[in-house]
Amino acid sequence: MTEADGHGPAATSLSALDAIIEKRSGGEHSDSTLAALVDGFVAGTVPDYQLAAWLMAVCWQGMTERETAALTMAMARSGDILDLSGLDHTVDKHSTGGVGDKTTLVLAPLLAALGGTVAKMSGRGLGHTGGTIDKLESIPGFSSDLDEERFLRQAQEVGVAVTGQSRDLAPADGLIYALRDVTGTVESLPLIASSIMSKKLAGGAKSIVLDVKVGSGAFMRTVKEARELALAMTRIGRHAGLNVSAILSNMSEPLGLAVGNAIEVREAIECLQGGGPSDLRELCVVLAGQVLTATGLPGSEERVTLALDDGSAFERFERWIEAQGGDLTAAASLTLAPDQALLRAPRTGQLAEIEARAVGRAAGLLGGGRSRKGDKLDHGVGVLLHAKVGDSVTAGDAIATVYHRGGRGLEEALVALQGAVAIADAAVRQSLIIETGLG
Ligand code: URA
Repeated sequence: MTEADGHGPAATSLSALDAIIEKRSGGEHSDSTLAALVDGFVAGTVPDYQLAAWLMAVCWQGMTERETAALTMAMARSGDILDLSGLDHTVDKHSTGGVGDKTTLVLAPLLAALGGTVAKMSGRGLGHTGGTIDKLESIPGFSSDLDEERFLRQAQEVGVAVTGQSRDLAPADGLIYALRDVTGTVESLPLIASSIMSKKLAGGAKSIVLDVKVGSGAFMRTVKEARELALAMTRIGRHAGLNVSAILSNMSEPLGLAVGNAIEVREAIECLQGGGPSDLRELCVVLAGQVLTATGLPGSEERVTLALDDGSAFERFERWIEAQGGDLTAAASLTLAPDQALLRAPRTGQLAEIEARAVGRAAGLLGGGRSRKGDKLDHGVGVLLHAKVGDSVTAGDAIATVYHRGGRGLEEALVALQGAVAIADAAVRQSLIIETGLG
């Protein structure tokens, strides 16, 4: 390829070609080859057909631990890396995505109440999973757009600052992910691990806990795959000099009972006030304990549960929301959509399945999620489950309340929910935490 073809300088193309051949033949790249590939792709000098060929070679041949770490660092360095060095005990958590997962809303103020500093960028929802920023925006006045000075000052003063992804964190990942999506190269362990960790490294925290979800609502369907991903990510963290550990948690059924935006914030508040569903509380306590210990603070279960039960985590939540302009006392705060429909048990028995992905899709169909970037959300719609897998139900019992607005998307949402639920004569309650302390 030459410059005359409009595909960039021949020298860069040639090194990309060398890299493709090296990887196709099972070779190991140097750090500088990986940096040149990433930088070249971002700059437009490595064309997308060459990067796509290289991604496919990685899918077949894999990458070593060192290569995966070098690729991650190259992607992290493609944009801003937040400088949190002026803050003490910076902690972050990442979840690989789930339905009803409102843990950041609980964990961030909980960690701050226990001495950690959470200065975090969070995303919006896409597809069947929700996003922390969308949930927070169901609080009137809440601003998810903090400039750097305000973000750092708030993190220092309140211990929590959560902003949308306005900064250019790991732009290489966004570009490469878009190409992976259309070239059948998403499903590669080193590519997934480096994609997730590049954003975490750019986020700047010293101690990170990863919640790798397993099950039908998750990216990883089996425990084996999830464990491999968790270990690949913790190894990258070690190479980067960070304290990164992981847990595996079940995402076959939604986390907690609420799925939507405002309705999930309500449930997070219940948890911050010492109540809420036991699975949500359990997950938050485990994640908090692990990351607090990693950052050198006491992380015993007693200390963490006390912060939920004595009001200190909730007090920190209120300060955080107020600092970002949110008004929890406003009449419109966390209001749910006015119309309700019930999903009833078709027979007597025990709930054997509440398929997370389908419940997430139902909330999306009601207007609570987006199918395309930029779609406007209805924060008030959602699904409130009344039972979890393993619970006994009698024919006709309400299994879920659906909050909708004037019937928008209701019919399709009810079909999705009916398909999500299975009732059997006997069912086993699933355990939420599958493994802890990985890495
Ligand atoms: N999430 C990411 O951020 N990247 C992947 O490659 C897969 C899931």
